[in-house]
Amino acid sequence: MTESNVSTHSSPVSADAASPETAVSQERRVVTAIPGPRSQEIHARRQAVVPPGVHSVLPVYIERAHDSIVVDVDGNHIVDMCGGIGVMTVGHTDDAVVAAATAQLQKVTHTLFTMTPYEPYVQVAEHLAKHVPGSTADAPYKTLLMNSGAEAVENGVKIARKFTGRPGVAVLEHAYHGRTMLTASMNHKAAPYALGYGPRASDIYKAPNSYPLQDGLSGAEAAARTIAYLEKCAGASDLACLVVEPIQGEGGFIVPADGFLPALAEWCRDNGIVFIADEVQAGMARTGTVFSIEQFGVEPDIVLSAKGIAGGLPLAGITGRAEIMDQSQPGGLGGTFGGNPVSCAAAVAVFEQIEAQDLLAEARRIERVFGAGLTRLAEKYPVIAEVRGKGAMLAIEVVQPGTTAPNAEVVAQVIDFAAQQGVLLLSSGVHNQAIRFLPSLKMTDELLEDVLSVLDAAFAAATA
Ligand SMILES: *Cc1c(COP(=O)(O)O)cnc(C)c1O
Repeated sequence: MTESNVSTHSSPVSADAASPETAVSQERRVVTAIPGPRSQEIHARRQAVVPPGVHSVLPVYIERAHDSIVVDVDGNHIVDMCGGIGVMTVGHTDDAVVAAATAQLQKVTHTLFTMTPYEPYVQVAEHLAKHVPGSTADAPYKTLLMNSGAEAVENGVKIARKFTGRPGVAVLEHAYHGRTMLTASMNHKAAPYALGYGPRASDIYKAPNSYPLQDGLSGAEAAARTIAYLEKCAGASDLACLVVEPIQGEGGFIVPADGFLPALAEWCRDNGIVFIADEVQAGMARTGTVFSIEQFGVEPDIVLSAKGIAGGLPLAGITGRAEIMDQSQPGGLGGTFGGNPVSCAAAVAVFEQIEAQDLLAEARRIERVFGAGLTRLAEKYPVIAEVRGKGAMLAIEVVQPGTTAPNAEVVAQVIDFAAQQGVLLLSSGVHNQAIRFLPSLKMTDELLEDVLSVLDAAFAAATA
């Protein structure tokens, strides 16, 4: 199948926003080269005033967006399979989220919760207490709100250290936890996140993860390896916490083998180590449950959320067992903008939309429709070694045919081809060996099929 550079695909389901001048039709439409002339003009100005360390994967400048489509300043309608890295779970400019944030904007935008509080913060904490596995009505988990995923991780570690009185932080290989100094020190990859920014934080231990395609181990075997490493190299009694992404995000949507996470959680419990689930990317309904860890049968001591929690506004939650959260002294936790009222109002709307629009079922629909399409592509193209993930958090691992060695070249070619056709894709994995898909849970079957047809053409071109 070949496509011209100027292509249109109309979806019969139109979900245009109310006002005509801001309406965004849910169709792919490429009207200029990507990036177009207006994007290139802004990009030249940007390079004069924004440092290159703030890198943009695809420098098309976005003017507006709705549901699954972003529209750039040249009028290209691009299908967003990235969602600002898993943030736009309820879709861009969701009507209910926009309405809630707008109403809050006109009431009060800031007081500082640690000065004079407001109700939306409490509502978000109530929603999280309702959904986090392990939390019960009798013994609800408690929540601290911050601004970003990295701040959530920082505070999770801080709270675990305070509770245990221990320094050690265990993380897994292929992990990603953020770009502050502590979290950059916790990431698997030195470059680009920590390289040259040292000294890095101390007392961090990076243990083997479970990566079934690459290690071939069962969950029990992989957990035994992780535990043996930590007991030898860190010492269990020195560990405050183990921070785990239930499905690794930047790492390539690596789903651990069955039994891996429960075995780690049990070992943590036996050794007084706080088990922290970093659900920043996998959480908030993306995988078909509100938190992905539910699907692994683990009740974490602390759950971290951010990315999709507030429909695009900055907000992060640290939700944990009361006895752990209550150890911090008044004033020990917080920050000027943490739990901003507008972000909180948006987050309340997101929680309401998860129920009102049955978004958990939508995530499972996407797994069914898009996952089946990816499996067809994997059968057709031997460079695709595996389709993995859950719900609307799916990835393919791209290899040298007949091996499990990474094939970053084909990944880059496919992403570049798709961009030219108006599909926004993102690589993933420490060797850029995977392409990850993070569509809005409202993406229509028609758009998903359209993306699959572009992927088919892209793999055909890249492997010709
Ligand atoms: C994105 C991410 C973070 C960091 O979140 P920021 O909001 O970018 O600071 C932490 N953990 C995971 C798993 C992430 O995907």
